[in-house]
Amino acid sequence: MKMASCRLCGGQAAYSIEHAKMMLCQDCFIKYYEKKIYNTIMKHGMLRGARNVAVAVSGGKDSMALLTAMSKLVPEKFPNIKLVAIHINLGIEGYSEKCQEIVKRVCEGLGVEYVIHDLLSREGYRILDLKSTPLGRRICGACGTVKRYLMNRLAYEIGADRLATGHNLDDIVELLFEFYLKGSVEDLVRVRPVSWSDNPKLVTKIKPLIELTERENTYYAMAQGIPLLDAACPLAEGSRMLRRKKLIGLIEREIPGFKHMFYKSHVKRILPRLEKTVPEPSIMECEKCGMPSLSNTCSYCKLVSRLAAQSAENST
Ligand code: SF4
Ligand code: ZN
Repeated sequence: MKMASCRLCGGQAAYSIEHAKMMLCQDCFIKYYEKKIYNTIMKHGMLRGARNVAVAVSGGKDSMALLTAMSKLVPEKFPNIKLVAIHINLGIEGYSEKCQEIVKRVCEGLGVEYVIHDLLSREGYRILDLKSTPLGRRICGACGTVKRYLMNRLAYEIGADRLATGHNLDDIVELLFEFYLKGSVEDLVRVRPVSWSDNPKLVTKIKPLIELTERENTYYAMAQGIPLLDAACPLAEGSRMLRRKKLIGLIEREIPGFKHMFYKSHVKRILPRLEKTVPEPSIMECEKCGMPSLSNTCSYCKLVSRLAAQSAENST
């Protein structure tokens, strides 16, 4: 059987990039992947003026691939920038220990400084505890609130001026799909490659993987020998997010390039119009924690006070 050859060097192909109808060998794939991240960073000015970049790492393939690529790109192209990885141990039994182990191994192997924030010892609860609160019925939603808040706070505390996250094209298209279906323009306008902020307590968020698919991140993680988790988060099972991703995967199979098209038309055509018409929300300080908030009390403080109330009720 004839082996497929790499489009760029003619060597033996190892990876298939379906949307670009291209086969690449391992070395060319690594170059292609890192160049794509570099181009995304440059296209959106993600690191313009940056000094301290925090990378949010979960231990999953996307964020570990991002950290690995950034640890090569930053010293080469942005030598004045310092890179720090931040990880939250969510306390999910049989899962979070493995995530933390991967984070430590990869960071130590790359020589990247890291911060681990243990939810139980630092905040006094684990993600599953949130299930007892009304907001915890959709556990991934509650977990998302916790991660967004804490990642921003940790990045702020270490003096980072950017927070890079491993959101990939599949994550973004899934979000767009949900928000377009709901007609939720206030949420749609926030789906951007960069969320600039001039509020010192709200760190500018960047998504360098926004044009790379989940599959490309897996390929890169494999090509770089990044240890992969052997199972997904046990709490994700049956989530709407996973069902939507499955559906989008089916559409992509029928219409190759669908995900890229959807994302690009959002960013190029819809987003600029939405930005003109949807007013920026006014940001105030949370009366409990002092961090930026859209209302008197931030969603994180609301969540933890509900948890505290629930625990008090259970103990009476
Ligand atoms: Fe949190 Fe849901 Fe992700 Fe698990 S799958 S880490 S519960 S957001
Ligand atoms: Zn708060």
